Amino acid sequence: MTRHCLVIFLFFLLSTSLSAAYYDGEKDADDKVYIIKGDNNYPPHEFINDKGKPDGFNVELFRLIAKEMGIRYQIELGEWGNVWKDFTSGKADLLLGAVVAPTRSTIVKHSIAHSVLTSGIFTRKGTKIRSIDQLGSKEVIVQNQDFIHYFLIEHKITDKIIHVKDPLEALLLLSSGKHDAAWIGDMQGLYFINKYHIRNLTMGASGVLPREYCYVTTKENEELLGLINLGLLKIKESGEYENIYNKWFRVHERINFFKKYRPVIASLIFSFILLASFTLLLRNRVKVKTKELEKKNSEARALLDELQLENEYRSKVEANLKESQRELSSILDSTPDLIWSINVNNLQLVKWNNSFGKFFMNEMHTSIRTGMNLEDLFPNDKQQQEIWHDIYDNVLKNDAFECEYRSATGKIYLQIYSRTLKKNGVVTGVSMFAHDITLKKLAERQQHQIQLITERLVNVLIFQTIVDDKGKERFTFLSHSTDHLFGCTIEEAYSDASLIFNKIHPEDRGRLRSEVRHSFSEGIPLNTISRVINSEGDTVWLSIYSRPRQSDGISYWDGIMTDITELKKIEEELILAKDKAEESDRLKTAFLHNISHEIRTPMNSILGFSDLLDSDDTTKEQRSLYTRMISENSLILMNIVNKVIEVSSIQTGRITVINDTVNIKELIISVYETIRMNLKKSSLKIQHNIDISDEDNTISSDIYKLNEILTNLMDNAVKFTKKGVVEIGCSRKGDYIEFYVKDTGIGIPVDMQEEIFNSFTQVEKGDIREYGGNGLGLTISKAYVEVLGGKIWIDSQEDNGSTFFFSIPAKQNQ
Ligand code: ADP
Repeated sequence: MTRHCLVIFLFFLLSTSLSAAYYDGEKDADDKVYIIKGDNNYPPHEFINDKGKPDGFNVELFRLIAKEMGIRYQIELGEWGNVWKDFTSGKADLLLGAVVAPTRSTIVKHSIAHSVLTSGIFTRKGTKIRSIDQLGSKEVIVQNQDFIHYFLIEHKITDKIIHVKDPLEALLLLSSGKHDAAWIGDMQGLYFINKYHIRNLTMGASGVLPREYCYVTTKENEELLGLINLGLLKIKESGEYENIYNKWFRVHERINFFKKYRPVIASLIFSFILLASFTLLLRNRVKVKTKELEKKNSEARALLDELQLENEYRSKVEANLKESQRELSSILDSTPDLIWSINVNNLQLVKWNNSFGKFFMNEMHTSIRTGMNLEDLFPNDKQQQEIWHDIYDNVLKNDAFECEYRSATGKIYLQIYSRTLKKNGVVTGVSMFAHDITLKKLAERQQHQIQLITERLVNVLIFQTIVDDKGKERFTFLSHSTDHLFGCTIEEAYSDASLIFNKIHPEDRGRLRSEVRHSFSEGIPLNTISRVINSEGDTVWLSIYSRPRQSDGISYWDGIMTDITELKKIEEELILAKDKAEESDRLKTAFLHNISHEIRTPMNSILGFSDLLDSDDTTKEQRSLYTRMISENSLILMNIVNKVIEVSSIQTGRITVINDTVNIKELIISVYETIRMNLKKSSLKIQHNIDISDEDNTISSDIYKLNEILTNLMDNAVKFTKKGVVEIGCSRKGDYIEFYVKDTGIGIPVDMQEEIFNSFTQVEKGDIREYGGNGLGLTISKAYVEVLGGKIWIDSQEDNGSTFFFSIPAKQNQ
């Protein structure tokens, strides 16, 4: 119903427009006014618009050309069949649009094309006509007298041609269900379908029969045609053509495009709806799955966080690793030790550090590079090549290897360590490490030399002690004489220093300690002598020289001890000898002093009495006395000389013993009587005490020497005793006969009791001497006793008398 109303309305509109003729432009009495005709219902090219005015692309373009070229005109639009008839009958000068067709060219002139006209085959929806080929035997509606109409007839496409006055009528007829297709201008078809909402039609084919669309004139109007062509070119050049074209056709092209692709768009929409439905159906499943996914998602997120942490950790580890590698290679390059690696297959260098490169540069003047083998490293040195071959052989045979190496120049010693590098249990390379032990070697050599020297220094001990921060002292070095001097091993002394310190002589310890303290505080060497008691209990004299030094808070004492015991003995002997010499000198001086006195006294007597002998006044008795006095003093003088000679004989070892049978009792009595007869002191009593058996009374000895001994002792006893008793006696004591002479005289100080046996020694010194003598009697007596195989001793107290004892073997005559 709606559709029918629409069709009736459209027919009404058309009928009103059919009779309308339109005039355009201004009329002028002088100029020719061209009659321009065109189709009144061929939009968008030419048509009567809603305001009843000619309109469309062809019209607007023409107006512009006319304006440009100064053409006066009058436009009249009408039904195309009538327009064509008027034109061909000379009632019009120009048609706004006609397709170039062969049948027309004989009667009209075409301008250059102002556009291209294409056609479309319109059908009702559901009818599948898509090309001209499908039109055979179909009822086809066309516009009367247009180029399609001519084409159908000319090409005999179908004999069922229905022609109508314009495209709108064709469409309305088709839309009303009549005939099979309408073949009209595609632009026009779309224009009307769109404008009048003809929904049951569709364009099955478009762009069919493209033809140049031109202004046409009658053959008589060539001048006008020229103006038109020129105007058209100008407008095209100015760009105005483009504007007009776009205004009228672009919109339809877009609609056409939409329509052309409508099935595609529809299928897209359909697909979208399907998709939406499917989406809805899936929504529930998605919800369930979403929950599962969310759960998995959170797990994945946790995993991701973990991974992220792990990644961060790995990045840190990698960064640390890189840093460590950088530090490691910097350390390896800064170490003075040689580090390198070799390929096990060809013994070629793989990697090395700076020190390794320097080593070869200094030693062999060779620059290191990767891949060098032993021949490259030691050019022209077969010996070194062989040494290194041996080293590498050992290195490859052992997982870890160590050896010492002397460089090619012999200046450097290396301690070499190696370790094989394995990959999956297979040895691929060897890393090697060499430490310069040249200084160590030199030190060892020096140490060895020191050891040899110290081993040979029997009486010299080289030592080093340290005093730690707690004040504890211990030995850090001791040479070989330790055992010899202190009776302990070096190791024992290292662990217990007291084994040495306790051997210091107790009397020297305090002094030595204070000397050590002084030396340390003043920083001066310790140079002293000390005694130690060795393991055998003997005193050993040590000269100690040591120098203190401080290092790292520890006090060191480096020193040397020398056994000077022998020197000390010699020194002591020398001192004794010197003392003796001095004493001897003193004694000789005293002797000379005494002897001169002792000699002068009898000499004076001899000389004095000799003078008196010559005097005429001397009587016979006097002469006899003087002669006796001279004789006695001569004897005294002789006695002195004899004693001096005897001492000299003793000192030179030239005394001889003449053994004979000695009757002890007779000897003692003889001596006793001699002394008693010559005794001039009335206050002194002489006695003897012979306690000896008859068997023991005779012995074999030198009677002269025994007499001399006993006489000397008795002379002294009488000389140094003013009053009291002098006793001579003897007794048997074991294998000896012991004689004694005892007095009650002045006695002898204890400190002189040994010395008085030395020659020229007397208790009283110098000028204070009260008693005569020469200090030789006891010297001779002692020498005689000893030469007779006995000994002599004394028991005396000052001011309390003295007893001289001597013993001789009780040797019987054989
Ligand atoms: P001389 O008697 O000629 O001086 P001696 O060798 O006989 O030499 O004695 C040495 C010294 O010993 C004496 O000078 C004396 O000082 C001391 N002397 C010896 N006998 C005695 C004695 N019996 N009493 C005291 N002093 C004595």
